[in-house]
Amino acid sequence: MIIQFKKAVNNQILEELKTKFAQIPKQVLVIDNHMAVIDLDHFDFSDQESSAIDEVITKTPTYVLGSRLFHPEDTIIKLPHSEIGGNTFTMMAGPCSVESEEHIKRMAMVAREGGATLLRGGAFKPRTTPYSFQGLGEEGLRFMREAADELGMDVITEIMDETHVPMAAKYTDVIQIGARNMQNFSLLKAVGKTQIPVALKRGLAGTIDDLLNAAEYIASGGNHNIMLIERGIRTFDNKYTRNTFDLAAVPVLQKLTHYPIIVDPSHAVGAWDLVAPMAYAGTASGASGMIVEIHDDPAHAFSDGAQSLKPDTYLTMTKHVFALKQLMDSWED
Ligand code: PEP
Ligand code: MN
Repeated sequence: MIIQFKKAVNNQILEELKTKFAQIPKQVLVIDNHMAVIDLDHFDFSDQESSAIDEVITKTPTYVLGSRLFHPEDTIIKLPHSEIGGNTFTMMAGPCSVESEEHIKRMAMVAREGGATLLRGGAFKPRTTPYSFQGLGEEGLRFMREAADELGMDVITEIMDETHVPMAAKYTDVIQIGARNMQNFSLLKAVGKTQIPVALKRGLAGTIDDLLNAAEYIASGGNHNIMLIERGIRTFDNKYTRNTFDLAAVPVLQKLTHYPIIVDPSHAVGAWDLVAPMAYAGTASGASGMIVEIHDDPAHAFSDGAQSLKPDTYLTMTKHVFALKQLMDSWED
């Protein structure tokens, strides 16, 4: 259950209750005036305790820390050059893979020109086959860091393994956990022990609750800097799109959790000419930002060329995305 105390709660009551729950024994989590007691649906409060309580929520989701019931305010993630969450709209762009020092620098300039404050790019690639390009590894991270620093951008990049965490800490502002690793629990626990912001992608067959419970693995380790990415899910129909973009997940997630929700139209559709319309739809869904793949020579991209926007298309798309966001902000309610 989640206990919402009155704003001016007496600390002594809070501490005494914590001790009582610990004796049952039950695990207790506290944020401000909210106390969550794991696996407890009922408790006989004394009159004095009851008078300190505003509300008791008995149907508590398993993802307590991520739940809006426990933490009503939006989480805002602050990076050196970006703010992510709430009513902000953050653009993240770059190639699928870091291909070379020169290429990532060129793509960073395009990304920045389109209003991106984060540079994306993979140095460790979770490819469907082991024979496809696997990424440049640490060298790729270094290239990305340099490209971003030259332009005053932040870096978001994927790691696939818990052993990559110390290396990522040296180079990236946001650790991306890919769709295929959404339930890699040792990786989730490892990033949960850091304070590095984490962008967790929804798994190919992950339900909304699966995603929130995966995020809880990160939060329960002490890292609350989490954003969630809707990147399309597998459904029965992948004839024309790589995945099915579940845009309803955006407002649903925003209702359930305080974490920023980001959309990824590139992986959702898998075809460059479908990216812009879905980017507009993603913006209209109310997401706090977008991550998109770009490439100046998609036919020769090391990965995901088919869904990568050429610079011109990207620049037009982001112009419209920001205009749409501005229009939405002007709506009275
Ligand atoms: C990527 O961002 O390039 C990527 C591999 O994404 P996903 O994990 O969503 O497939
Ligand atoms: Mn990709």
